[in-house]
Amino acid sequence: MDISYIINELGEDRENYFNAVAPPIIQTSNFAFRTVADMRNRFYDEYGGYIYSKGLNPTVDILRKKLAALDGAEDCLVFNSGSSAIYASVMANVKAGDHIVSVRKPYTWAQKLFDNILPRFGVTTTYIDGTDIQNFENAIRSNTTIIYLESPNSWYFELQDLQAVSKLARSKNILTICDNSYCTPVYQKPLSMGIDISLQSATKYIGGHSDVVAGVVCGTGKMMRKIFENEMSTSGNGISPFNAWLLIRGLRTLPVRLEKVTRNTASVTRFLQDHPKVESVIFPLNEDFPQYELAKRQMQGGCGLLSFFLKVNKVEDVVTFCENLQHILMAVSWGGYESLIIPACATVQPGRYDITKKEHRMLRLYIGQEEPEYIVSDLEQALNTI
Ligand SMILES: *Cc1c(COP(=O)(O)O)cnc(C)c1O
Repeated sequence: MDISYIINELGEDRENYFNAVAPPIIQTSNFAFRTVADMRNRFYDEYGGYIYSKGLNPTVDILRKKLAALDGAEDCLVFNSGSSAIYASVMANVKAGDHIVSVRKPYTWAQKLFDNILPRFGVTTTYIDGTDIQNFENAIRSNTTIIYLESPNSWYFELQDLQAVSKLARSKNILTICDNSYCTPVYQKPLSMGIDISLQSATKYIGGHSDVVAGVVCGTGKMMRKIFENEMSTSGNGISPFNAWLLIRGLRTLPVRLEKVTRNTASVTRFLQDHPKVESVIFPLNEDFPQYELAKRQMQGGCGLLSFFLKVNKVEDVVTFCENLQHILMAVSWGGYESLIIPACATVQPGRYDITKKEHRMLRLYIGQEEPEYIVSDLEQALNTI
């Protein structure tokens, strides 16, 4: 399906709403029935139509159709955060006694689910270095039911060979879930490589304006119905009509925003790599990235988020650098219009800081929509203060 058709037309039916070009926000909690029979039918199949906006809603449905098509999926569900998308997808597919194989250092709140919540219900997780398929084979047990992937992951951008992992998983009847937040379905389509569930934080590139928190899960119609009827409806964490409308608006410019960030990333990466105070840069589409060949093969692109290490001898220099940035904001998240930075030392207790540890000199940078010279000159003047 043509991406322009998906973004501009799919799911929209203007004749139903006064030929308005922008779709309406159907801001209602409930939907009325004319007959008892209609109401009864809906009670028996809430996934078949509208009854209550905690479940399905027409504005949300426009978004669902577009996001499913972008991922090449039969169906899709939209949540009020990426974390709740992860939570529902995992919870829907484990029972007491099951085992999960996860890539090491997955998204923080996925890891909390595996470490703090699931063990209470007898579900255990083994973390592996996902860069080698052999590690998956070694970690799989007779009770493994989920392989959890994030490719690339944030901070280190490690990749998994999605085709190889899904082939292995299918041969053992194990479900694969892939967090695709980094690439978005525009730059990577996990389902086309055999992955069962593709999910992403729509807070990042889909929203794109740092004003919505949301998450997307894509997969088969059967799987989406199962998640909808149980985990999604009991936790009541579906997206609101207004936030769905903001995401539809974000989607209109998704390809052009990704293009701009891709160009910016190339300029900023070159600047950082050449700077004497920068030790190294980690970006999956750099030729010196250890998995560059795999990245070229399974990703159509990737941009914005990268990590770099400062060549400094004391933590105060990292602090000075960050606090001297004039335009790049020190804030979490990414995928919006504005450039952002997180120093890894902000996650370390002051007494524990050890400058000889490379990871303590690490910074994660998100490159936004500004002009590349604007971002580079801000980095340059801050580097000059250390
Ligand atoms: C931000 C993020 C999430 C979680 O999404 P929220 O919308 O913040 O809940 C999940 N995975 C990755 C890789 C992320 O960057």
